[in-house]
Amino acid sequence: MKFLTFRGAEGRLHPGVAVDGGVLDLLHPALRLPEPCGCMGWWDLDDPWHQAARRAAAAPPEEAVLPAGSISLQAPVPRPGKFLCIGLNYRDHAEESGMEVPESPVCFSKFGTSVIGPEAPVLLPPGSRQVDYEAELGVVVGRRLRQAMPEEALAGVLGYTCINDVSARDFQFADGQWQRGKSCDTFGPMGPWIVSPDEAGDPQDLAIRFRLNGATLQDSSTSQLIFGVAELLSFLSGFTTLEPGDVIATGTPPGVGFARKPPVFLQDGDLMEVEIENLGVLRNPVRGR
Ligand code: ZN
Repeated sequence: MKFLTFRGAEGRLHPGVAVDGGVLDLLHPALRLPEPCGCMGWWDLDDPWHQAARRAAAAPPEEAVLPAGSISLQAPVPRPGKFLCIGLNYRDHAEESGMEVPESPVCFSKFGTSVIGPEAPVLLPPGSRQVDYEAELGVVVGRRLRQAMPEEALAGVLGYTCINDVSARDFQFADGQWQRGKSCDTFGPMGPWIVSPDEAGDPQDLAIRFRLNGATLQDSSTSQLIFGVAELLSFLSGFTTLEPGDVIATGTPPGVGFARKPPVFLQDGDLMEVEIENLGVLRNPVRGR
């Protein structure tokens, strides 16, 4: 199942599901869905709304299905409660960055306001000359997880998505910590949708690629992750309660721009694509200066 968010003609955000013939609008009155229990209900596996939405997607009424080409996709989680990221989670990326391979996950965060959806432009911020890309497997939490053991953590996953952890290297390395370099407006492209675990397959065995203007600059597999998804969820939930709609970017493989010789930084007019096997392609143009 592919969960998505789109902007309706009236300007409101709608949850949807990709179905045969288009997108099922989960706010369509013909579905008569209950109200979600809270603001996280769309992504909450245990919310009656979410369960009713899944049933509706199994037999969608025709009048509630919109042609895919007619909708404006947004980030599948437009404002995550937490947007957590893992640094240096591919051995060879740690090496190309000149950093030690970590013994436990390195956690940082991006502000929720950095999130944008597919096709939305990444804006080069004034003052940075070194804006870089990072293709990453994104995990969307679908169930409250607190001090979860690795073997129970995957039951709390709603699904997986593509993330581009856009990073201003000059900000990141000047500050001694990463918040500003990682959290600029538009630095959190996400999408095009959330693919449920049964369709995504093994999260530790997905091809992951980044293309800049059609040229492949990152080409790896999530089998190379140092800390896998279950381990990361266990680690993170050990110090902060994970909630439905929280998003975790699991780290990037080698091939990022600043480590290339010569370095590659994003320019006005570039086109970025993150592609992950079974999850689709997240495409964003670059604008600015
Ligand atoms: Zn990253």
